[in-house]
Amino acid sequence: MPLRALESRLPPGAVLTDASRFEPYAVDWRRKFFGRPLAVVFASSVSEVQEIVRWAQTHRVGLVPQGGNTGLSGGATPSTAGDQVVLSLSRMTRIRERDAHNKTITVDAGVTMQTVQDEAERLGLLFPLDLTARGSATIGGNLSTNAGGTAVLRYGNARALCLGLEVVTAQGEVWDGLRGLRKDNTGYDLRDLFIGSEGTLGIITGAVLALHPRPAGVMTALASVADARAAVLLLERAQGIAGANLTGFEFMTPLATDPVAVYFPQFAKPSLGEPSEACVLLEVSHPESAQEATRQLESVLQGALEEGLATDALVAQNMTQAKAFWNLREHVTFASAEDGPQVKFDIALPISSLAEFCEATTALLAQHFPGARAANFGHLGDGNLHFNVAAPEAMGAGLSREARHEAFGAYVKQNEDGIRRVVHDQVVKMNGSISAEHGLGQLRRDEAARYKSPIEMDLMQRLKNALDPLGILNPNKVLRLPSERA
Ligand SMILES: Cc1cc2nc3c(=O)[nH]c(=O)nc-3n(C[C@H](O)[C@H](O)[C@H](O)COP(=O)(O)OP(=O)(O)OC[C@H]3O[C@@H](n4cnc5c(N)ncnc54)[C@H](O)[C@@H]3O)c2cc1C
Repeated sequence: MPLRALESRLPPGAVLTDASRFEPYAVDWRRKFFGRPLAVVFASSVSEVQEIVRWAQTHRVGLVPQGGNTGLSGGATPSTAGDQVVLSLSRMTRIRERDAHNKTITVDAGVTMQTVQDEAERLGLLFPLDLTARGSATIGGNLSTNAGGTAVLRYGNARALCLGLEVVTAQGEVWDGLRGLRKDNTGYDLRDLFIGSEGTLGIITGAVLALHPRPAGVMTALASVADARAAVLLLERAQGIAGANLTGFEFMTPLATDPVAVYFPQFAKPSLGEPSEACVLLEVSHPESAQEATRQLESVLQGALEEGLATDALVAQNMTQAKAFWNLREHVTFASAEDGPQVKFDIALPISSLAEFCEATTALLAQHFPGARAANFGHLGDGNLHFNVAAPEAMGAGLSREARHEAFGAYVKQNEDGIRRVVHDQVVKMNGSISAEHGLGQLRRDEAARYKSPIEMDLMQRLKNALDPLGILNPNKVLRLPSERA
């Protein structure tokens, strides 16, 4: 029995085989993918990760690396065959080094994003990577998905905030690339290869992260806009005035914010503009003072109101109000989960094409899927939208919550492929990406293969074969297993 061999090499309690306790590790956050692991194994150190990988090599067992299990593409969910092991890094939580002068922090892969943010604050610095799942999502998961979030506009995504990596390879060796350098052109960039590879090329065990100076003043506002076209013009205006001080620009349509009022009324959108209008959350951060941040934000909004780009605006008067604006934005995802199943999207487009994309795709959906509703929201400042599509409202009218979920679920099941085709064809036609920040996992693996060129797919497969020739690292994620291809 191969698991016995593994148990004998690890401390007591490291190998979980009680299936009744698998669920938190076997089901993804959206409850779309339900895996059945052989076991869940917890590593507490780099050498334990090595032991586990070597065991997997010997016995040809697939390993599914997992951090906080907050990923939204099914990347951390094992197969249903009962033959893969979830390798949880959640017990690797050491802060290895703090260097305030180099503005870096070196951490184990299982440290959460929130912990790094708090550590940076204690150093008087900022770790700007931020997303709603910050309390559970781990640095290993953030880097493996090249996570984005709400501050990419100013600070870049996870890749831009990682200076060095430590990785356990598929052969069980350790690559120590924990360099805190901002410049290093000594050959192929292995760090960039592992970042965003979703656990299919190596297991990230540690990272050197870049920290930034903390802004002295951060001001937040909500502005109502007619549509995405007006929002893009507002973005241009805001960047023209605030430049790099514009640190957040989030877009939300009424179909995205209305469910917040229903399921989380304490975080509902404040009275602003017309109910049919969308809104934008703007954040300006200034290195010198809150007054300067306010001045820039007010200048953006005043001009936008005068020119009709915005129809109404509210500037947060204190931290509580600013938090309330962000709570609205952060609860869009939770409220949509409460509202029922949708076809989820994570697309990116050149900002110059965003408005045209929204208009053209909405028209196509109306033509092919009458009544379907695009609950569109996202990090518009990065050209990244979650153009999620929900069932026609009438399908849920008068139904209990359970019956409504069932009806919406049935609609999604029946129409998901068709809706995806309409939206993704349009994305690709307009030179966009079908996965901006959530990765491919198993949710978008086949979609990516559909749109990428044969040469790109072949290069990716050759990399996979070179680094993981036995295919033990996160099998069937990002690239479909050769045995499963049609
Ligand atoms: C409410 C909510 C809001 C979110 N908002 C955003 C957002 O704004 N932007 C965004 O980008 N994402 C967002 N996400 C998605 C998610 O939080 C991120 O993808 C996050 O980076 C995943 O971290 P994790 O530790 O939970 O990874 P997991 O879900 O555990 O794993 C994700 C992938 O990384 C791999 N992996 C995990 N750890 C390692 C490791 N140490 N080595 C190698 N591979 C590993 C897994 O195999 C899997 O393929 C959101 C999720 C939720 C639930």
